[in-house]
Amino acid sequence: MNLFDVYPINPITITSAQGSTVWDAQGNEYLDLYGGHAVISIGHTHPHYVKRLTDQLNRIGFYSNSVEIPLQQQLADLLGRVSGKDNYQLFLCNSGAEANENALKLASFHNGRKKIVAFKGAFHGRTSLAVAATDNPKIIAPVNRTDNVIFLPHNDVAALEQVFSEQGGDICAVIIEGIQGVGGIQVASDAFLRRIRELTTQYGAVFVADSVQCGYGRTGRFYSHDHAGVHADIYSMAKGMGNGFPIGAIAISPAIKPSYGMLGTTFGGNHLACAAALAVLEVMDKEDLMGNAAAIGAYLTDELRKFDRIREVRGRGLMIGIDLPEELAVVRKDLLAKNRIFTGEAKPNVIRLLPALSITKNHADRFLEALEERLKDV
Ligand code: PMP
Repeated sequence: MNLFDVYPINPITITSAQGSTVWDAQGNEYLDLYGGHAVISIGHTHPHYVKRLTDQLNRIGFYSNSVEIPLQQQLADLLGRVSGKDNYQLFLCNSGAEANENALKLASFHNGRKKIVAFKGAFHGRTSLAVAATDNPKIIAPVNRTDNVIFLPHNDVAALEQVFSEQGGDICAVIIEGIQGVGGIQVASDAFLRRIRELTTQYGAVFVADSVQCGYGRTGRFYSHDHAGVHADIYSMAKGMGNGFPIGAIAISPAIKPSYGMLGTTFGGNHLACAAALAVLEVMDKEDLMGNAAAIGAYLTDELRKFDRIREVRGRGLMIGIDLPEELAVVRKDLLAKNRIFTGEAKPNVIRLLPALSITKNHADRFLEALEERLKDV
């Protein structure tokens, strides 16, 4: 049987990893500044994480949601504390797309409406509503096309006000990433997020904060929307939540009431996934990884802004976009080939850094030196 050929495969096999270092099958060492796309939050093979998962697997790995699973409440308590949203309600699922799918569906159950406002450059996942709210026609299958999604320009307050003044009573939800990831590290302005909050409140629409990539402490605050001082009605999360173990979730404001059977999943909230997510939060808390993300992120960003050949440096904390002029697009490939540093791509000429929240100043310096070398080459 062949693999269904949908990924551009890098001809490298990673066979082991520790912290932000990974090794290939030949024993070559690499610096991982991409964390498997924001997924590795506390670093690869963290001893506490490995132990907690192994212990859990030796006890019980899975039992269905037909019985009580106390690990779920433990996770809700710790997540509530670390995120500063004790009074929210937690629903556990398995991925970012599923989290957004559930968020939008729940919004529609809540206010009975259908129209979703989303933004140019947004990425929300590949399931039906999530992909319909994603600004990339190439990945929307005909069956997922819908008139229910209204795309507005990003950070455009006037366009937002206009759509609410014309159709406010029909708008079910506004969904927005605090920082667009796939869209090229585009930060939603504080003023824009505040205006979304005001208008959604005024018109009875639900504010969905897609925190799948920009959340979970990456920007130095638990949800990147926190920087604007706004509270969303629903936060979706996944990626860094399990440090590689598939788990997603939505945190739901107390104003939205559950009813039996409204949402559901077979695997969501299973014992192993909860143990993984608990281990991640315990490490984040104990090692102050949010503080580290803020500090190392600020250092990296400040240093990168001193490079005169970089067009723009965007982002917050450890979610950084390095926008290069087109003729320097080759730099990202060279960083891997010549310096053995994994980075991510957003559009051909934006280098995306989404490292573990535990990276050190030494890692940052190694990257800065490598980038300087590579820029000299071109
Ligand atoms: N939302 C955002 C902001 C994302 O970046 C992604 C993944 N790139 C998703 C949702 C979808 O997550 P998943 O791949 O886990 O379904």
